[in-house]
Amino acid sequence: MPEITRIVKLKIGLPLDTARKTISAWTVACNTVSQIAFENGCLSNAVRLHALGYGAARAAGLSAQVAQSCIRHVASKYAAARSNKHVITAPAQFRAQAVILQGGSRGRDVALRASGLSVWTIAGRLKAVPFAGPPDLADKLANWTFGDGRLIVAGKNVFLTLSFKKDVEDRIGPNDAVIGVDRGINVLACATDGKRHWMRKGGHTKHMRNRYLSIRSSLQRRKAERRTRSVAKVLKRLSGREARFMKAVNHEVSKSIVSFADRAGCPVIAIEELDGIRGQRLRKKVRREVQKWAYGQLAFFIRYKAETHGMTVIEVDPKGTSKGCSRCGHTESANRNRHEFKCRGCGHRLHSDLNAAHNIRLRGILARQVLGQDGEPSCSPQVRLYDPAGNRGRGRTSRLLKQTAHDMGLSCFMHRGDYCQSQTRASALPRKTSHAAFQR
Ligand SMILES: [Zn+2]
Repeated sequence: MPEITRIVKLKIGLPLDTARKTISAWTVACNTVSQIAFENGCLSNAVRLHALGYGAARAAGLSAQVAQSCIRHVASKYAAARSNKHVITAPAQFRAQAVILQGGSRGRDVALRASGLSVWTIAGRLKAVPFAGPPDLADKLANWTFGDGRLIVAGKNVFLTLSFKKDVEDRIGPNDAVIGVDRGINVLACATDGKRHWMRKGGHTKHMRNRYLSIRSSLQRRKAERRTRSVAKVLKRLSGREARFMKAVNHEVSKSIVSFADRAGCPVIAIEELDGIRGQRLRKKVRREVQKWAYGQLAFFIRYKAETHGMTVIEVDPKGTSKGCSRCGHTESANRNRHEFKCRGCGHRLHSDLNAAHNIRLRGILARQVLGQDGEPSCSPQVRLYDPAGNRGRGRTSRLLKQTAHDMGLSCFMHRGDYCQSQTRASALPRKTSHAAFQR
């Protein structure tokens, strides 16, 4: 049962000045303690460092508990340097970034109450500080374990990031309970579980991207002509706006994909490896950068959301997923004509992105079989045969398929609309190697 951590960011109504002073006191304390640790043979043992540095940390204005956090923080920095085999020639420097505050059952530096936030600052404890957080904060507080917090100043705003932990039960399903997800441009994402599919068209996103691109390039031209501050400022604002737009879209798409997998009862999501994002030939390098980033973010969001549902995300080789036929495997560029896929080998026709999603799914299933072999060997691969006539396991074609599979020494069962775990020849095998055994 893996433990997952989530960070929640709250905007808090702490006076800016107090927050800055708190952060600077923390930084001073960290650097003083770091000097002491360095002088004493780069101490990475928090207990020994505590004996030497506690007074200095308290002198910087930290409370007893925050001083301890500070010492642990410094010690862990030296411990990390040591384990990474860095040669330490000067005391580790700490920049004014964030104050670590203990919350939850162990600490009292930060607590969330109905009346508001109670938080330790250099000016003493402040109570009933107003805060604004994401909609799922209440769920986090009720069902997750509250870890520690970090006080941050960004621009003129004060933030508090809180970490929450939770154990998530791994979901287990049949080996082929995998959904394949294809990411693209005209269709942002297409997911399939082998029978049903979900698709999100990318028309609006593409339009918005092109619009941002044209504004950006015209502004950059103007910037090249005469270097003005205002143009640079507009460019910066624009890039922020575009990033927020893409982020919102990616959140929405990833949410839909995970809920599709949930409905389909599939605990595994297969996506392509990031480097292999295919698509239309890209005109500009900038554009490619933006797209790479956006796809990477989508993958990250899918992984993030899948984890909270106890699902797994696997990356598969993207080579040829759009050119190969998902039914017969025939691979040829001519198979695909924009969004129409028509196999030159078997005549199979479907939406090209759906075909790619099927291919990714099949590779995902295969990857899981390879993973399974690393643990306990599978003594007989299972195959699911697809009868084009839809004979549901009866009739001449089905009999022939079954016979062929039998001759090849494969256990087989027919596609019957729903997941079926019966293994024709599994009874002869030791129970250990049955289906569920190598799912773990
Ligand atoms: Zn084909």
